[in-house]
Amino acid sequence: MIARAAVACLALLLVGCAGDRPVHGDLLVTADRVFDGERVIEEGAVLIDGRSIARVGRRADLDVEAERTIALGDATLLPGLIDLHVHASSALPELLLANGLTTVRDLAAPISLLRAPRERSGRLRVLGAGPIVTAAPNGYPITAHGAPLGEPVAGVVGARASVRKLVRRGASVIKIALEPSGGLPLLSLAEARAIVDEAHRADRIVTAHVTERRGARLALEAGVDELAHMPCMEDDDRLMADLARARLPVVATLHVEREAGPAFCPAGMANARTFVRAGGQLLYGSDMGNPGIPFGVDVEELRLLRRAGLSAREVLWAATADAGRRLGRAPLGSLVAGAPADLLPSRGTRSPTSDTSAGLSSSSRAAPSSSRTAGRPGTRLAG
Ligand SMILES: [Zn+2]
Repeated sequence: MIARAAVACLALLLVGCAGDRPVHGDLLVTADRVFDGERVIEEGAVLIDGRSIARVGRRADLDVEAERTIALGDATLLPGLIDLHVHASSALPELLLANGLTTVRDLAAPISLLRAPRERSGRLRVLGAGPIVTAAPNGYPITAHGAPLGEPVAGVVGARASVRKLVRRGASVIKIALEPSGGLPLLSLAEARAIVDEAHRADRIVTAHVTERRGARLALEAGVDELAHMPCMEDDDRLMADLARARLPVVATLHVEREAGPAFCPAGMANARTFVRAGGQLLYGSDMGNPGIPFGVDVEELRLLRRAGLSAREVLWAATADAGRRLGRAPLGSLVAGAPADLLPSRGTRSPTSDTSAGLSSSSRAAPSSSRTAGRPGTRLAG
């Protein structure tokens, strides 16, 4: 059954499988290629014991034995992919897991859906922000689908209290809205700095919803840790250079920005290219839950990261090992000893680091559930 799933290129969360010389494990998975998050191992093998990876390397070099062996043959075995910007993960965990993702970061949801992440065998790993901390009154966004998605704050004391509340309720990351488009009110610099400081005291990073220049400048001044979108406005070369110099990574969300149309985001791709040329770091996140974005690995987003200037290896790294590091959960996202046993077998892909999306695109097409849901009409949720 697992071999069939591999042929169909479905995601497997191979956890909880039951742990000198040779090293003993529960399951040995071999494949013509293993991408460990950094590099490709030809004729590779991954030994799993319990919920963790015990050994990784060339099959011929590993002195291991296992209760079971799955030989994938002409396939590439990757870490389960990590999407750093989704919505609606709580409604569709099995679907996301079946279509290539093993970890998602949900960047806007009502507080009633906010939970601390739980490690459970065979389940999607969800790290949530809960509602977006925003300016009161009427900051972006207050509601979506009738549910409150904003945590409105007024004043430094209230801003700090809101961050503490979200952390108590299980927030893994704090998201703030810095969105003045359409005349919306913005958080003050003092409020934004207080949010960042309070989040850092709780060992959380702050990611900022921005789409234009003023919000991005405020994010830089306030010391946020990341932008949740590539800014959209034209003639922003200086901003891109400043973001790169400040080592502020950006979750690209280039596909959803393109789907929103040129009037909404005229220069997202141009800015991404400028940002990469300036040495900036792009992260993989799809903004899933918005129209046109599949409920699984967003292969088009991976392609757009490549077009923005990342190498194929850097694209895969962004969606695996680097994402695990960004979440503060390394070696999550890597196939190395001690990492969670999240595996994604993908058929073929003779050279995954020279043609990033080849195997993964066949994955998305091959999964019937994906083809039914990818790109279906919906309503833009948030940030
Ligand atoms: Zn979003």
